[in-house]
Amino acid sequence: MSTEFKIIDLEQNFEFEENFPKRYVAPAHLHAFFKSNYYKIDWAEIGKSVLGRPIYKLTLGSGSKNALLWTQMHGNETTGTLSILDLLKFFRSGHVVAQTILNEFTLDIIPMLNPDGAELWTRRNAMSIDINRDFLATSSLEMRVLRGIITKKRYDLGFNLHDQRTIFGVGNLKQPATLAFLSPSESENKEVTQTRKKSMGLIADIYREISQILPDKIARFSDEFYPCSVGDNLQKLGIPTLLFEGGHYPKDYYRRKTRKYFSLALLAALYYASTKENWQNGWENYFEIPENSVSFYDIIYRNVQLSDDEKDTIDIAVQYAEQIRMGDEEITFVAKIEDIGDLSFLHGHEEIDARNRRFFSEETQFPKIGMQADFQLDEWFIVNGKKLENWG
Ligand SMILES: [Zn+2]
Repeated sequence: MSTEFKIIDLEQNFEFEENFPKRYVAPAHLHAFFKSNYYKIDWAEIGKSVLGRPIYKLTLGSGSKNALLWTQMHGNETTGTLSILDLLKFFRSGHVVAQTILNEFTLDIIPMLNPDGAELWTRRNAMSIDINRDFLATSSLEMRVLRGIITKKRYDLGFNLHDQRTIFGVGNLKQPATLAFLSPSESENKEVTQTRKKSMGLIADIYREISQILPDKIARFSDEFYPCSVGDNLQKLGIPTLLFEGGHYPKDYYRRKTRKYFSLALLAALYYASTKENWQNGWENYFEIPENSVSFYDIIYRNVQLSDDEKDTIDIAVQYAEQIRMGDEEITFVAKIEDIGDLSFLHGHEEIDARNRRFFSEETQFPKIGMQADFQLDEWFIVNGKKLENWG
């Protein structure tokens, strides 16, 4: 195996595309950036969204293998788009790893398939269609654009790039799943076909490399078969497809660290797809990756007392909802109560022991699921989920 790929060096020398430092990416900003910075590479408008925003495809590389990468089919999942920007910057650097990939592959990249959802930070498109469940029906213009591209060329490899919520952890490790990967199933019985083995082999390569710089924070996404989703159908068509999910890293709600690991994982996948003779080699190791588990809330207040009786004690879980406010350039986090009760089997990215502290709120005697996380625990003031420090 080649020794050009040195993950420690690549991490140390990693450069973000600093024209996009935020998690929110406005479609107009992205498109203007491509026009002014990537006019030399082959890029084309391949269609429009429901609300008439352009959808672009960039093509780079001169290799005989064809890969298709698309990002942000879910509008509120920008890590893939930001990683593509980082990767474009890396490809311009002339690094030997970049050269290897671009000699071997022609990369078709659709950055931001759902610009209407991206503008408003919503998962779905302007018609409230989940584009990733629309492969068969093709009710959305955006899916028709993607399918149009898929049928034009024989692709050897597909990358379906997503983000996942902060609720996911790595197996039972009590670690957040900063990255999760999937080789999608082709049928209900999740058979390990030749096509699946190829994407599993590449995911095993990613896992081996990225675990060195991100130990215990990588998971394997559920391979339940989704008959209408893109990855499952591409694998069924014989195109090995890798699903990436960017997730939570401790205290990194703007996903800066996640973005770096996501970019390096993409690079690892493309590098091994360029240099490995048989992609399926090592596919068995895919199953050594711990499973993605629903095991976290953003914040848990433990042992909150609800009455004078010390036995009336519960845990309160707080979860952030993400929003983009009109005119803002970055998303806002709004904390809401998500669960109440015995949450001892779940973890909080932040945990606060509130033993012997009584719950008070102006609006309600007891905490309620869905309410904004503004309340008191005796003399502690909790505002937007967080304890106000130095109060009074
Ligand atoms: Zn998604």
